[in-house]
Amino acid sequence: MSCLFCRIIKGEIPSFKIYETSKVYAFLDINPLAEGHTLLIPKFHGAKMHEIPDDYLAEILPAARKIALALGATSDDTFQYNVLQNNGALAHQVVQHVHFHVIPKPNDAEGLGIHWPGKATDFDALKKTHEVLLKKMEGKL
Ligand code: 5GP
Ligand code: ZN
Repeated sequence: MSCLFCRIIKGEIPSFKIYETSKVYAFLDINPLAEGHTLLIPKFHGAKMHEIPDDYLAEILPAARKIALALGATSDDTFQYNVLQNNGALAHQVVQHVHFHVIPKPNDAEGLGIHWPGKATDFDALKKTHEVLLKKMEGKL
């Protein structure tokens, strides 16, 4: 088994475990963007999100919520954070086992920095995209 995160799940490589169920495993990122930066992974090997079965994915957000609460999330803005999941090298994925980052955002300098190059609103383009995508979604569901 050569996958780094599969080896972490198996305990062959040590990690600072935060949470574990039969379907998911969470541990501290070794190069945190901020204190508490946690990685949450399915116990199913797949490089990208769409390769993971629903029953594994279904446990991801409830686990992410628990982690966020443990990190300090409340109903106000005292603790802020990002949940990030990268698919593919262009999309900044390095490790080829699906992982969700839970990243505290304590200040401008630490945590996730985001470049968000939003295009101008174009309703004709949106309408076209909507038609195409809706047809494809209907075919899949
Ligand atoms: P990606 O860029 O693929 O979304 O993120 C991969 C993450 O895995 C990075 O944040 C990196 O710091 C983390 N990482 C890489 N190798 C290890 C490791 O051996 N142990 C832990 N705990 N985290 C790792
Ligand atoms: Zn793996």
